[in-house]
Amino acid sequence: MTDKFDIPFKSDLVPEILKNADEIQFRCHKGVSCFNACCKQADVTLTPYDIVRLKQRLGLTSGELLKQHTVPFQMDAHGVPGVKLKTDESGACLFVRDEGCSVYGDRPTACRYYPVGLMAMRPKDSPTDKAGYFLIQEEHCKGHQEDRRLSVGDYRKEQELEIYDEMNREWLQINLKKRSSGPTIGKPSELSLQLFFMCSFDVDRFRRFVLSDSFQGTYAMEESFYPQIETDDVALLKFGYRFMKQVLFGEKTIRERDGALEKRQEERKEHIEMRRRHEMERHEKDQEALLRDST
Ligand code: SF4
Ligand code: SF4
Repeated sequence: MTDKFDIPFKSDLVPEILKNADEIQFRCHKGVSCFNACCKQADVTLTPYDIVRLKQRLGLTSGELLKQHTVPFQMDAHGVPGVKLKTDESGACLFVRDEGCSVYGDRPTACRYYPVGLMAMRPKDSPTDKAGYFLIQEEHCKGHQEDRRLSVGDYRKEQELEIYDEMNREWLQINLKKRSSGPTIGKPSELSLQLFFMCSFDVDRFRRFVLSDSFQGTYAMEESFYPQIETDDVALLKFGYRFMKQVLFGEKTIRERDGALEKRQEERKEHIEMRRRHEMERHEKDQEALLRDST
């Protein structure tokens, strides 16, 4: 069995899997007759690193970027949350201008790859996944008729995808693992979905969480960790991947303070007890009201 998922495009075509060295015929430039056509029908799924690049470019917090420029969607049947670029009513990306993309230097992974699709494949019995590519040939895209052949690898270099691939790889692996294993088989808990969303997309909220007393009281981080996390989005994102693996899959790479587990269990017990008492009080009040109404 091969487990696979693709970012960022949806296509009805059954794709031929391409390798890095395989050649494609394609060129996109301002002189092409369809210039901007793809951005006017944009369906762009964002990765965590895309969010970081865009928020830095636009001088926004991750919360502001999410609110102003993205829409949520469910990445799978279990409701794992993802985000896409917001479009106007006609389907056009909010960043497209007559002269092209207004965030070109920080455009998302999906925009860089197009018309190449990326898929991660995990061969049976293998702990690691491999990247595979496929070509998306859509009617409106005339770049396929341009007289230029180049390998997928050279196209990826031209689109400066190395840093994006490096930053996305671990997150895609977490996605794959979340779908196929881990303690949350079946429908993930609401809390695990919220944690996944915060660590993946809302890096500034995750920063507040990491700098909170409750985090610092639970985890034994090195002295140098906090000053770096305060300013470095990329370091924080990488830590977020580590944190998700620890919390979602039980991989122990972040050391907890002595007694932190017991303290958490105690707090959880108190919380459950409080909720039980609250429920009982509510039930008693309901009963009293019922008695009053019936007399
Ligand atoms: S971000 Fe830029 S390249 Fe991507 S769809 Fe929008 S305008 Fe087009
Ligand atoms: S050639 Fe394809 S990728 Fe380039 S602008 Fe036209 S539709 Fe978009």
